Amino acid sequence: MQIAIYSMVFLGSALMVFNIYGFISFTRKVKTVEAEHKSGRSFVLNIPIALLIMFLLGYLTVGIFGSPDLIVSGILFGGSIFVFIIYVMLEHILKRLSESKKLEARLLATEETSRAKTEFLSGISHEMRTPLNIILGLETMTLKDGSLNAETRERIEKIGSSAHYLLGLINNILDINSIDTGEFSVKNEEFAISDIVSQIDIIAKLHCEEKKLKYKSTVIGNADGVFFGDDMRFKQIIFSLLDNAVKYTDPAGTLEFIAECKDKENKTLLCFTVKDSGIGIDPEFLPKIFDSFSREDTSMTNSHGGLGLGLFATKKLVTTLGGTITAQSEKGVGSAFTVTLPVARVKDDAALYEKVSLEGRRILIAEDIAENAEIVADLLELEGAESEHAENGRIAVEMFRGNKPGYYDAILMDLRMPEMDGLTATREIRKTDREDAKTIPIIALTANAFESDVKESLNAGMNLHLAKPTDCDKLYLALKKVLYETESGKGALL
Ligand code: ADP
Repeated sequence: MQIAIYSMVFLGSALMVFNIYGFISFTRKVKTVEAEHKSGRSFVLNIPIALLIMFLLGYLTVGIFGSPDLIVSGILFGGSIFVFIIYVMLEHILKRLSESKKLEARLLATEETSRAKTEFLSGISHEMRTPLNIILGLETMTLKDGSLNAETRERIEKIGSSAHYLLGLINNILDINSIDTGEFSVKNEEFAISDIVSQIDIIAKLHCEEKKLKYKSTVIGNADGVFFGDDMRFKQIIFSLLDNAVKYTDPAGTLEFIAECKDKENKTLLCFTVKDSGIGIDPEFLPKIFDSFSREDTSMTNSHGGLGLGLFATKKLVTTLGGTITAQSEKGVGSAFTVTLPVARVKDDAALYEKVSLEGRRILIAEDIAENAEIVADLLELEGAESEHAENGRIAVEMFRGNKPGYYDAILMDLRMPEMDGLTATREIRKTDREDAKTIPIIALTANAFESDVKESLNAGMNLHLAKPTDCDKLYLALKKVLYETESGKGALL
């Protein structure tokens, strides 16, 4: 019995010494965490240690000098175990807390990196689109010159198609990023299917000629009229499918582009099919074709450059636009990719404003890059409109205020400009105390192509937002629309 009593006393003392050591190191850890968070020192944590030391001294006094019986030594031993359990629990809680703090810090750092990445990509997008805009604008302008000889025309078309390809690559990377960060913008602009088909035909024929492929395009259904949708993206999707079709089809093969318009009860579906008589896709690989970085391992795919990102980005884009994409293929026979996208038919005024003339109109172009302004001025001149140039927002406001009301028919406003940006300039113009300040049409013409940019432009008082590179048909249609709306009183939306 005595042995049991003294074992409990000495084991209990040893456990209590361990407990005291544990609490001291626990207190140090808590203080370090507190110091990191600058919440001041906590002397309260020393109290349990002092109590434990007193408990231990009392314990030893009773155990050595007193004559403890089984009950007393049992209570003392139980006390040590109880304190030990509390210590283990506290340790566990502290560990969980510091882990969650570390996780929080990691999360914060990740958010910070992702924000920095988006800002970087948005900046890069602007910087890369601006020179591309100039290249594509000059290509459009030069091709309109009827005196070009065939060889020069061909070279210029090649410059244009390479610039379009580069734009496609930039768009793929930007789209994946902007869809992932929720910054993706779907534009609802007016367009004609015939414009899409003719632009696709020009580029597709060029690519097919280079590779000696036969090319054919067909339009099915009632494709006349004006539609609402993001036609820039539609073209981007078709171009990337055409690129693959050309890439994976041997010379003397055929390539077909079919645009079909299907009118359902209250919606319209556009189906674009790109068909080729190329190498085809292995049935085992076909279900994985839209995965990121997936490429079929064949000598043909290996001999061509590629990241396996094209179809992944295309599918993401199609889904974000509310559409679907399917692939059918037979090895050695060919492949067909079909994209179905919902659009709306413009029933009301489109036919009316298409007839508005730009002849004799005076347009103010606010644009800091002289080459861009020159291209837009030349495009306007082709339609008989004259233009004046303001190098930044401040000058644009001065020119508007310095001329009599009605002097300018519309303003094309860049967003990023030195001295005063386009948004501020628009607000300044709108608050001018003059009859035409609230009605003069202002169109944002900018390389800032994110959804937030479109919202900001409209909030600042602009009537429309057009993304660069400047598509001349779009520019004319946009100007005709805002002019029609303003002149028929429908533009007084401010
Ligand atoms: P990339 O062409 O850059 O490798 P994609 O995502 O565009 O990337 O295509 C992924 C893979 O799908 C290609 O590597 C190729 O194996 C296959 N593929 C795509 N389109 C076709 C096609 N029209 N004919 C045959 N194979 C194709």
